Amino acid sequence: MSTTTSSPSSVDQGPWFRLSAEQEEVRKLARDFSDKEITPQVAEHHDKDGEFPTAIVKKAWEIGLMNCILPEEYGGLEMGALEECLIAEELAHGCMGISLSIMANNLGIVPVKLAGTDAQKKKYLAPLMEAPLHCAYGLTEPEVGSDPGSLATTCVKKGDKYILNGVKRWITGAGVADWYVIFATSDPSKKHRGINAFIVEKDHPGVSLGKKEDMMGQRASYTCDINLDDAEIPAENLLGEEGTGFYTAMKTFQYTRPAIAAGAVGVAQNALDHSLRYSLERQTFGTYIANHQAVQFMLADMHRDIEAGRLLTWQCAWMCDQGIQNNLEVAVAKVFTSDRAMQIATDAVQIFGGYGYSREYPVEKLMRDVKVTQIYEGTSQVQKIVIGRAILRDMAKKMGLDPKVVG
Ligand SMILES: Cc1cc2nc3c(=O)[nH]c(=O)nc-3n(C[C@H](O)[C@H](O)[C@H](O)COP(=O)(O)OP(=O)(O)OC[C@H]3O[C@@H](n4cnc5c(N)ncnc54)[C@H](O)[C@@H]3O)c2cc1C
Repeated sequence: MSTTTSSPSSVDQGPWFRLSAEQEEVRKLARDFSDKEITPQVAEHHDKDGEFPTAIVKKAWEIGLMNCILPEEYGGLEMGALEECLIAEELAHGCMGISLSIMANNLGIVPVKLAGTDAQKKKYLAPLMEAPLHCAYGLTEPEVGSDPGSLATTCVKKGDKYILNGVKRWITGAGVADWYVIFATSDPSKKHRGINAFIVEKDHPGVSLGKKEDMMGQRASYTCDINLDDAEIPAENLLGEEGTGFYTAMKTFQYTRPAIAAGAVGVAQNALDHSLRYSLERQTFGTYIANHQAVQFMLADMHRDIEAGRLLTWQCAWMCDQGIQNNLEVAVAKVFTSDRAMQIATDAVQIFGGYGYSREYPVEKLMRDVKVTQIYEGTSQVQKIVIGRAILRDMAKKMGLDPKVVG
């Protein structure tokens, strides 16, 4: 069964909006790679046994689909967030767990790009173009996720080192990464102003990994804890100025959340493609289920939300590439695409009826895979907080009120 993104799309055909020829090439490269390398059988294998897709990652790296945002001066292709979205959607159409294993490096790369010195970029970014190495991003902790200003991992400067203590939980790719960007506080009472970012190597003294998480979906990716027990980190691995770590952590999401939204769109498109085919195969009451209006409306809603989500995603990524503040647009794109993709995957299971509930058929995996897009890189509730605050502050300003009236 072909996995090509096949449903008609006004985004593809409309005369009013087009990707550039280069962007179309990137999209096609990713689509062809996804169709060839991430077949349904491959996706099923990695989902069932949770094996990290080392060989596929290597192939993606070899043809330039990994680490594409690395600056040219460090050997990279210097692609933008929009190109990343095109790649993320196509890879996630094949399997979002495998896609995540290829794309998650960006979470480590972006903070170094944003706040790193030239020496740090040479040491940590340039090697990513020489071999398919991994890096990761450690913000979340056992007791702290949505409120990172309250994180508990500590850092204390001692001579030419920082000593870090704490646990980082749910760190995507940590099990295969050589280094991580870790956020720690020098003074919890300062909340977000006390947070520093560090580049921590897996072999720095005091650094160890927890067990691999046994996850509901995206099971091809390797997620685990990073333990820091009096971990000794050279002072030169501080990323940016002291006290700027929180800013770096949040700014990173403006670049990386669009690709999560794009991944959700890719899974949703896959769910729709399966649903379209199945509804033209399965018959009840003497006709294809596609001819029952209740089913056709579900398909129409799925298509509507995919189109809208794709455009929201491309818009916020484009803004990111133009250097335009995109906090609000990223939050809108992430919550819309992840919530709608969850609904679309659930509807795909519904359209498949009893077969939808079986692991022998592809759609239940999509439901499990896409669920986490509502959770990681800021939950749907957190995105709504961002949206609510932004639109209320804007109205407060228009009304001549101090925007700080909105908490
Ligand atoms: C597979 C996976 C991969 C991940 N990868 C990474 C990674 O690479 N790096 C990393 O740092 N983290 C990672 N995470 C962690 C992820 O970002 C957090 O799980 C997420 O931010 C939510 O934090 P939490 O789990 O602590 O939930 P909590 O913050 O405890 O939230 C629990 C619930 O309460 C809601 N809630 C919390 N506060 C509010 C509020 N003020 N208003 C309304 N609702 C609220 C939340 O939306 C959620 O529904 C990953 C998680 C998973 C599952």
